[in-house]
Amino acid sequence: MMANTTLSKHKTKIVATIGPASDSPEMLERLIRAGMNIARLNFSHGDFSDHASRITRIRAAEKTTGMRVAIMADLPGPKMRLGKIAAEPIQLLTGDRFILTSDDIIGDRQRVSMSFKQLGKVVKSGDRLFLNDGLVQLIVEKITDSDVHCKVAIGGELRSRKGLNLPGIKLGIDVFTDHDRSCLEFALQNGVDAISQSFVETADDIINVRAAANGMGKQPFIIAKIERADALINIDEILKVTDGIMVARGDLGVEVPIHEMAILQKQLIYKSRMAGKPVITATQMLESMTENRLPTRAEATDVANAIIDGTDCIMLSGESAMGKFPEEAVTMLADIANHTEAHRPPNNLKGFYEIGDDNKPIKAAEALSTIVENALRTVSCVSVFIPTRTGKTARMISRFSPEVWIVALSQSNTVCQGLAFSYGVYPVHLNETPENWSDFARDWINERQLKGSIAMLVAGPSSLDPKSNYRLEFLPVGKK
Ligand code: PEP
Repeated sequence: MMANTTLSKHKTKIVATIGPASDSPEMLERLIRAGMNIARLNFSHGDFSDHASRITRIRAAEKTTGMRVAIMADLPGPKMRLGKIAAEPIQLLTGDRFILTSDDIIGDRQRVSMSFKQLGKVVKSGDRLFLNDGLVQLIVEKITDSDVHCKVAIGGELRSRKGLNLPGIKLGIDVFTDHDRSCLEFALQNGVDAISQSFVETADDIINVRAAANGMGKQPFIIAKIERADALINIDEILKVTDGIMVARGDLGVEVPIHEMAILQKQLIYKSRMAGKPVITATQMLESMTENRLPTRAEATDVANAIIDGTDCIMLSGESAMGKFPEEAVTMLADIANHTEAHRPPNNLKGFYEIGDDNKPIKAAEALSTIVENALRTVSCVSVFIPTRTGKTARMISRFSPEVWIVALSQSNTVCQGLAFSYGVYPVHLNETPENWSDFARDWINERQLKGSIAMLVAGPSSLDPKSNYRLEFLPVGKK
């Protein structure tokens, strides 16, 4: 691939879901040039052949543009969905009676089938069921054989395949389902870089996905989608084993009271950054751009606020997958990111410097990252160069959202693709250690027409440079 030396104007990474509106070769190229860093394939929709041709086209667009794109396969998990409805949409009125059945039928205004055949075994009379992101709500009245008889508590419109959420009800099923395993196998065989797992509840759910991927001989970057109340309880344990998280606001907003969302988002972003794991803020970021050329003021502000919170990535779902303006939506995210990054208030770094206060030894990578952050505030550097074996040192520094690019150099393309998720990190795949770091940095900076005379070199032990222990150097990169 001929590397494109254009640097994007935004350091927040952009995830765009690829679907029928965005999977043509031309549109994929336009999305990449507009700022898409990660292409998401949602395995809840489309079949394997759709995804295979999308993967081929994304890789081709990557080559044509010379710009790196990571591909993330989103595994559906145990998402419960309605079956097919004959004449859709149907309108349910408050007070109507409605049946969810495990029989395979084509649905109507009286009865619809359910993908989750155990429904009648896990719910009881009085339970509240949330359909279509909670817009329609049912109360269970009685259960007979294969049917759950309900009263409509909040009426509204329903279509085929709409989701069902049962907040607080234990389903007794594995989060990583048999279907997820086949999606995972297909995605990894087709060269996907990252996997996001839906409905994660515990650290074990991520451990299971990783074990399955490793068993298939692959090491994808794994993102835990935080959308269940249990995941909020177990977040510290999940953060220890996952590579990153997604604040999956769609289902999260049904599983917890919607008025708690803003604070939860801030808490999740903060915790994830503290752990040095990238975080994606997802869902309805520019929802109205599915139909309109411009977002609402509230949406534009929501995106900016997520960036101010310190999110690494911002994500489009339906806007880019099936909306009328996918390119405009990516450009809008890029413009908001560019402006907000330049004008946001300084990070609240208090917590970072409290690491170790509880008498736990400070890990060297943590300490190094705080030293780098301080040094960047006193010495004006053009960029930070980080040879890295696992990507960890680069991620630790990315937590501070520095104003300059973090150029992370790795011999592993897998590591580079994982670093595509981290704020301000520009991954470079190198086959060997540069002989002279100043020359290497100078060339990289000149190719991108950046101005300045000093760069920083930061390395952890066993990084690309075999002789390095922990190391921080200032490199002269001005004219020779
Ligand atoms: C979400 O629920 O916010 C989400 C991103 O997941 P999905 O698109 O699979 O509903």
